[in-house]
Amino acid sequence: MAVPLTDQERRKQISVRGIAGLGDVAEVKSSFNRHLHFTLVKDRNVATPRDYYFALAHTVRDHLVGRWIRTQQYYYEKDPKRVYYLSLEFYMGRTLQNTMINLGLQTACDEAIYQLGLDIEELEEMEEDAGLGNGGLGRLAACFLDSMATLGLAAYGYGIRYEFGIFNQKIRNGWQLEEADDWLRYGNPWEKARPEYMLPVHFYGRVEKREGGGVDWVDTQVILAMPYDTPVPGYRNNTVNTMRLWSAKAPDDFKLHNFNVGDYIEAVLDRNLAENISRVLYPNDNFFEGKELRLKQEYFVVAATLQDIIRRFKSSKFGCRDPVRTSFDTFPKKVAIQLNDTHPALAIPELMRILVDVEKLDWEKAWDITCRTCSYTNHTVLPEALERWPVYMFEKLLPRHLLIIYDINQRHLDRIAALFPGDVDRLRRMSLIEEGDPKRINMAHLCVVGSHAVNGVAQIHTDIVKETCNFCYFSQTHPAGWIWPPGRLFDTCVVVGEHAAVAVALDDVTWGLSLIQVLCYHMAKLIIKLITSVGHVINNDPAVGNRLKLIYLENYRVSLAERVIPAADLSEQISTAGTEASGTGNMKFMLNGALTIGTMDGATVEMAQEAGEENLFIFGMRVSDVEEVDKKGYDAREFYERLPELKLAVDQIQNGFFNPEKPDLFKDLVDMLLNHDRFKVFADFESYVSCQDRVSLLFQVKNPRAWTQMVIRNIASSGKFSSDRTIRQYATEIWGVEPSDVTIPPPNEPPFKAQD
Ligand SMILES: *Cc1c(COP(=O)(O)O)cnc(C)c1O
Repeated sequence: MAVPLTDQERRKQISVRGIAGLGDVAEVKSSFNRHLHFTLVKDRNVATPRDYYFALAHTVRDHLVGRWIRTQQYYYEKDPKRVYYLSLEFYMGRTLQNTMINLGLQTACDEAIYQLGLDIEELEEMEEDAGLGNGGLGRLAACFLDSMATLGLAAYGYGIRYEFGIFNQKIRNGWQLEEADDWLRYGNPWEKARPEYMLPVHFYGRVEKREGGGVDWVDTQVILAMPYDTPVPGYRNNTVNTMRLWSAKAPDDFKLHNFNVGDYIEAVLDRNLAENISRVLYPNDNFFEGKELRLKQEYFVVAATLQDIIRRFKSSKFGCRDPVRTSFDTFPKKVAIQLNDTHPALAIPELMRILVDVEKLDWEKAWDITCRTCSYTNHTVLPEALERWPVYMFEKLLPRHLLIIYDINQRHLDRIAALFPGDVDRLRRMSLIEEGDPKRINMAHLCVVGSHAVNGVAQIHTDIVKETCNFCYFSQTHPAGWIWPPGRLFDTCVVVGEHAAVAVALDDVTWGLSLIQVLCYHMAKLIIKLITSVGHVINNDPAVGNRLKLIYLENYRVSLAERVIPAADLSEQISTAGTEASGTGNMKFMLNGALTIGTMDGATVEMAQEAGEENLFIFGMRVSDVEEVDKKGYDAREFYERLPELKLAVDQIQNGFFNPEKPDLFKDLVDMLLNHDRFKVFADFESYVSCQDRVSLLFQVKNPRAWTQMVIRNIASSGKFSSDRTIRQYATEIWGVEPSDVTIPPPNEPPFKAQD
């Protein structure tokens, strides 16, 4: 049990969080007791901390419901343009505290729980993280939902309700072990299942020519997509948007017709196969693993979501009596679809399939609508992360979509050929289909061709995407023109907690993360083992004593980031320039009072612009320097031979200093650093070490004000990195919607009147 607060601590908490109305407190207490009794079916003698958490969650949830229904009614009445954020990941973390803050309930709940003799922080700790993401990409999606609701946009997040999110990481004997993340075990009070809105999704089958033109996709296998809705409250504006996550359900007759009566049991057991689609999140960050189940997941979310989008478009209050609406001419004016990386790229051929095969629009019209509706955010240029699906997988799983992609590609290549006659190499480079064994579909090319706007996640990254993509000819040929919104698009996660001086040195896994992409899981785990082994030596060295500790944080996740980021003094952003698309941890640290030691990469470039380069510790190669090194050829051994500190470190790793029981444990790692390190980390070593000396000097010496001044200048210039600001920019430059400062009337006031 956590220690109850002293009266002094209570007064401090109240002075920070404000004073609750007595009526609010009484209402929370009575609602809490009612839920403990009727919902949890417990009394105070047998209730556990988890029961108390659920009672509080239900109490807070009750305050969401009226606003949620009102918001959706309001959208129906006003029929604003809808924004759909499609993502295979939503890394939401915990919901309770964020909901209390956004609804203005935190003070009342604090006081009520205190008066009930309970510790609200202990209850909050009972909540499982919704870990439906790997890292930055999924957390960005979560921050964007929050900001879209805060800005009053009629927005929806669409994704998959994974039964198992990102694995729980255990460290045993210094090695990583993965455990299943059974986050739904105790139930999820924030979601509402909507079996009545279940939709079919088709797989496999074959394509059949229709008499009189057109094609049909027939003999498919059907899986049902069951929606689960989660409320997304804006900050104190009574807006509650919806995140709709799909769960796979086998149809009642799944496989039954294939079997005799005797195979009934087998057929029921096989339902698991169908339902495996939404079983588990692939734990790949910045890495493409071309598994068929993952392709199924990507189509599953896209197919269910597009049906939902089109149903909502057609059933709009104005659409019903507007014949134009049924013609789809207004579709791009009423619908914006944002693709979070290429993972939901199938939205492009799927929308084409619906418009051409089902709605019977002609190709050119359908293509114009598709391009004007969709836009795409690129998250990386690292080749091992790019989705390149084998054509044979499409042939089997999505035969109709393959033909559509061939048709898109044919027109695409015709346009290039007309613009650049005889440039065969350009056709090969820009084709959606890559020749080879096997032939592959380049999903990034598909997204670029099928979108009216493409953006990177930071200015430098957007510039790099523009150069590598080489798609700029579109400004002349694309039906919707070509928009390259300037980068400057960031995520900021609101992190809460107290500032404290750190007594430990946190390991930095960025070196490790850059290596994951080369040698995947074996290498990643070896790096973790190296970090924990080095930690073991340092932490038990009597000469070091308490001056330095190296701690590997087990099971890093949103709720742990919320604690550790506000507590940090120094943020290390040490990617080789040109390899980190943006980074988002950098911004969270800046906003929370840490200084940055970093390379000029990703969003760190813009942090230096905003705060002034003199207020960050910048080291290492710039992108142009990296290009120079590439031209000359990178030789890790040259650095190893020339820099004694580096040589000593590498030798110690190599000769078993950190792992005497098995001295050659890290030999693959050392081999890679010396002989095939694509990230050229030794080239930044000398500059990094001398920059760390500057950091130490400023942190230790006589003038503590100098450090604090730098911190304040950083915090004061971090405003650009708010996801609210980012979403404003998306709204105006990509989606063509206006942020609204309308506050929807709360449930205890009379309903609004429709304007028309
Ligand atoms: C922000 C965040 C990330 C992404 O951090 P980067 O610095 O962008 O890699 C990953 N995990 C968690 C829990 C986060 O909050």
